[in-house]
Amino acid sequence: MNLPNGGEFGLIETIRRRVANSTRSSVRLGIGDDCAILSPSPNADWLVTTDMLMDGRHFRLDECGPEAAGYKALAVNLSDIAAMAARPVAAFVAVALPRARAVEIGRGLLDGMVPLAERFGVVLAGGDTNAWDGPLAVCVTLVGEAVPPGPILRSGARPGHVIGVTGPLGGSLLGRHLRPEPRIAEALALLEFGPPHALIDISDGLASDLGHILDESGGLGALLIPNAIPIHPDAEIMSRQDLRSPLDHALYDGEDFELCVVVDPETASRLQKNPPPGVRFHVIGHVTEEPGLAFLDSDGTRRPIERRGFDHFAEKAGP
Ligand code: ADP
Ligand code: MG
Repeated sequence: MNLPNGGEFGLIETIRRRVANSTRSSVRLGIGDDCAILSPSPNADWLVTTDMLMDGRHFRLDECGPEAAGYKALAVNLSDIAAMAARPVAAFVAVALPRARAVEIGRGLLDGMVPLAERFGVVLAGGDTNAWDGPLAVCVTLVGEAVPPGPILRSGARPGHVIGVTGPLGGSLLGRHLRPEPRIAEALALLEFGPPHALIDISDGLASDLGHILDESGGLGALLIPNAIPIHPDAEIMSRQDLRSPLDHALYDGEDFELCVVVDPETASRLQKNPPPGVRFHVIGHVTEEPGLAFLDSDGTRRPIERRGFDHFAEKAGP
């Protein structure tokens, strides 16, 4: 296949344009957000998302074992449901198992998925099982239900809105990327507190994922306060090893699976003073009319931030 310019996101854009003319009123939202929205009847919105994980790319089976692979495969999909502030309902799991250890690996995946599914009230409702001579691949499709006034899309940001994140970022490759905690409860608490205008989960890195919100909201920009971005201790550790700054890790590493939340200024100040129980909300900047991501330094200078993030076609390294 000839890949279009622009790597992974370029190809997704090509697919999106190719299918742009196929519309149905019951498909309220197709390609472009964390989940699609299906509205079979006026008062029922269903969310659908799917993510495929492959050995050597998203995990190393020989290092982490099948339980961790199963956990991660379901957790990253739960994170996309959280990213719409919806409630997960049913999971469908398709697996390509390495033939020599098919049953053992299949059972191990289940050990990782079932406790997580039970914790989030998700029914494992179907799937597909294959074995082959290739490496393990796990594809989870997750269906969720909207919780009014949700679902929250990527496209609702406006200039002047405040940008926050729900936890510290960077350095997930030290091991956290295998055990993400899906922010479902946090997203639903935010929805009740004062619905966000836009929401995304940080899977490819803050710069890239906030960039998706700005693009989907009509080509806006953001000014971020560098010292306000919460940095995970793992980013500090990695920084000592690879000499990239902790902030660089926080912007670009990805797989943090925290939420990037866009709210109006009034909600932001209420959230900072009195957040709902269990919800962390770190204000990191605000949305601007002027496109592009930039830092606002303490002396008032505007310093552009590069918009790279994790691109599956660009990067060769695995987990
Ligand atoms: P996320 O990081 O939230 O999982 P992705 O970057 O994987 O999102 O995908 C962005 C959007 O593109 C989503 O709406 C997704 O459903 C859609 N998408 C990705 N790959 C394909 C594909 N091969 N065919 C159709 N839609 C796709
Ligand atoms: Mg997502």
